[in-house]
Amino acid sequence: MKVLPPGVKPADFEAALGEFRAAVGADWVFSADEDVELYRDQFSPSWGEEDERRASAAVAPASVEEVQAIVRIANRRRIPLFPISTGRNFGYGGPAPNLSGTVVIDLKRMNKVIEVDDKRHFCIVEPGVSYLDLYRHIQERGLKVWIDCPDPGWGSPVGNALDHGVGYTPGIHRDHFGAHCGMEVVLANGEVMRTGMGAMPGSKTWGEYRYGYGPYVDGLFAQGNFGIVTKMGFWLMPEPEAYLTSTVTVPRHDDLHALIEEMNYLEHVGVCGDPSYASPMGRYQRDPQLVALWKKPGRASAEELDAYAASKGLPSWSARLQFYGSAAGIAADFEYAKARLRARLPGAQFTPAETIRFPASDAEKDRFDRKVAIGVPSLEVFTGMALADAAGHVYFTSVIPKSAEAVFEAQRVYSDVYDEAGVQFSGLAGVGPYSLPATWAYHTFIFRMPLPTFHDDVAANRKVRGIIHKLVEVAAAHGWGEYRTPAMFQDAVAMAYSFNNNALLHFCEQIKDAVDPNGILAPGRGGVWPKHLRKERK
Ligand SMILES: Cc1cc2nc3c(=O)[nH]c(=O)nc-3n(C[C@H](O)[C@H](O)[C@H](O)COP(=O)(O)OP(=O)(O)OC[C@H]3O[C@@H](n4cnc5c(N)ncnc54)[C@H](O)[C@@H]3O)c2cc1C
Repeated sequence: MKVLPPGVKPADFEAALGEFRAAVGADWVFSADEDVELYRDQFSPSWGEEDERRASAAVAPASVEEVQAIVRIANRRRIPLFPISTGRNFGYGGPAPNLSGTVVIDLKRMNKVIEVDDKRHFCIVEPGVSYLDLYRHIQERGLKVWIDCPDPGWGSPVGNALDHGVGYTPGIHRDHFGAHCGMEVVLANGEVMRTGMGAMPGSKTWGEYRYGYGPYVDGLFAQGNFGIVTKMGFWLMPEPEAYLTSTVTVPRHDDLHALIEEMNYLEHVGVCGDPSYASPMGRYQRDPQLVALWKKPGRASAEELDAYAASKGLPSWSARLQFYGSAAGIAADFEYAKARLRARLPGAQFTPAETIRFPASDAEKDRFDRKVAIGVPSLEVFTGMALADAAGHVYFTSVIPKSAEAVFEAQRVYSDVYDEAGVQFSGLAGVGPYSLPATWAYHTFIFRMPLPTFHDDVAANRKVRGIIHKLVEVAAAHGWGEYRTPAMFQDAVAMAYSFNNNALLHFCEQIKDAVDPNGILAPGRGGVWPKHLRKERK
């Protein structure tokens, strides 16, 4: 199915492709159906329907100059462009654009690691550098720095950070956009701009001081559509002498209050890393007895859940204690954390500490089930992933406060939405009394709910879309917004940030109109549409 950019005639589109070919070489413009197919979102919740967002073609430049040439052609011919770095944004839209007919600008060929400094701890990379590439680059040179990676290592520091992606080592590194430092951007008019210290010719601190001088504009380029990022700096964590991990469990339902408060303290004071909460009881969320308890009017009380957990002989909650630093220091930190937790939670139990010293061999690193916690990228997350008969999933990810009250409230509020929609616990869906938020974001929780998507079940996909729209609405009514979402929900999510008649969105639209008057860069991304396409807002 060939889609063209809105308002562009086939002959004009062919002429634009011809100009793209002249700019980057014929081999790097993809317009055959089988090539463009690769830029579909395999996890799309509207697969094969009219509303699926489909690219018309793709173009893969090899240099900043080629990116500039493409942007200038696109401007002249009014061709919308959608930049991707490694294009692996699955669960949040894959490589597909917001607006059907857009040409994907695929930056995979721009894959140079420009600099890694293991004395001052930063790197500067191009968009096509994947986490696996960067890790390999560091290991091959024996450099003493870590990267912080998301679960799948095939994505890129640049692409991931530009969608506010997240990882698993200590707080300031897990927030990938927060850990970036300076960028180079091709603007909609084809000009190249550098931010932060990079804006100063000959600057010596591009990857180290992020603000430079004057307004800090970097935020516009993440979840936005104001430029194409062609280089980005990131702070890196120095390789610690050692890492120590243990799991703490607490027996009672209401112990989650003190557990979270203590882990918040230990994390924010800089003692512990990512607390990664879980529940040993999670495996029973499909048990008919528990489902019945949870579905009764008023839902299960803490006492009932405690009795149920006791019947299974399991504690209610767990958290990971993770320490990075000197071997002696982290052993002492572990004792300190245990003492604090025991003082508030007499029932707390700790697994024996596991420690690893660095530098470590691959075999030593392999002992750890969560290699991302020690900065090692892989694709292990896909091993044994229960897709059932689904093609993929989309995430609903709302930002909630870092407290047990908020967790319990979210469990109930979202269970109400699921019950009303008739969602049963399955491999990819379900909320129950042991569902817990992700702890990627340093100062908040993200309550993540995957929902399955299908290539052969339009009705099921429609239902998923309806549920996500409902979740966005219900979340907003509770003061919770999403941190990230696939293209087809970006308007709804952006509109929920509606303080003072959507003043934030209107401000972004004014910037869009000023810096990209032809609206060629990623129309619709982040809910920001150029003037002539605002009617596309869904
Ligand atoms: C099982 C599973 C587990 C996952 N776990 C995680 C996880 O732990 N953490 C996490 O963050 N994500 C996770 N994801 C989501 C996703 O896979 C990763 O975030 C991935 O790194 C994103 O793909 P990418 O790096 O190739 O970015 P891209 O797809 O290249 O980019 C993402 C978006 O950013 C914008 N963009 C990209 N490059 C540019 C540019 N140069 N200029 C301007 N805009 C640009 C585009 O809008 C693009 O759609 C997971 C997904 C799955 C399926």
